[in-house]
Amino acid sequence: MIALVGSINLDVVVGVDRHPVPGETVVGGDRRELPGGKGANQAVAAARLGATVRFVGRVGADDAGRRLRDGLAAEQVDVAHVLVDPEAPTGMALIAVDGAGENTIVVSPGANARVSRADVEAARDVLAGAAVTLVQHEVPESAVAAAIAGAGGTVVLNPAPARPIVAPVDVLVPNRGELEALAGREGDPGELARGLDAARAVVVTLGAEGAVVVEGERVERVPAPRVEAVDTTGAGDAFCGALAQALDSGADLVDAACWAARAAAASVTRPGAQGGLPRRADLA
Ligand code: ADP
Repeated sequence: MIALVGSINLDVVVGVDRHPVPGETVVGGDRRELPGGKGANQAVAAARLGATVRFVGRVGADDAGRRLRDGLAAEQVDVAHVLVDPEAPTGMALIAVDGAGENTIVVSPGANARVSRADVEAARDVLAGAAVTLVQHEVPESAVAAAIAGAGGTVVLNPAPARPIVAPVDVLVPNRGELEALAGREGDPGELARGLDAARAVVVTLGAEGAVVVEGERVERVPAPRVEAVDTTGAGDAFCGALAQALDSGADLVDAACWAARAAAASVTRPGAQGGLPRRADLA
């Protein structure tokens, strides 16, 4: 079982010919509303591959919150610990996409910013019983710290967005930019990862170049399957969810990373952060 402490957002997406400059209004296309948030994306990624996932998080007492919580439940994610915040609105990402596929994004964390140490402690039985606890940086530091402290199994942290790691974890999964932010410099990913002392092992994701697994002195490159990418939004979330699912089912870290690379490659061949997530049968 995977315990996931993380964010839930409504992604509101509008196509534009070009992005507005400050003070300017541009007219865009019809709005699309999609489920998102790194926590929710990773939960759905793991659940679609067959994992039992129990979510700890918050939505607002609004229509978006109801729809997103119900949507997670429809994906077989346990939402018993997804609280409905009486004051804060549901987290939202306002996304403008231009013709070249370039995004500008404003995130309003809303209820995600109210996920508390107490929320995580109220789910202590879930965390203690989970083989894997999966966390990202879209909830407050205090909640991340409580998740790491309360985890009974392997802790997997996706440090996105990049900020300092609050406590050591078992497996850290940064992308290249997050790794460089944590290391404080650019450089070879394997070398930078070896220099981090916040994790027992590091899996660096490198987009179409795949990933590199660093565990002690061992450095293994994991190739990405070659695919026709149509939408790489949420590739990292597909990777993290699949990695957690494989670790939960007993795989070793390198095998889990290979599986995650297959799942993430499949996800980029279809549009949407959650819409593109594969099921187990898709990877057969
Ligand atoms: P993020 O989405 O956080 O920026 P990456 O871009 O590193 O993270 O992508 C995460 C993983 O998704 C990669 O390690 C790789 O396995 C897979 N991936 C991303 N882009 C592609 C691509 N164009 N082709 C195949 N796999 C990809």
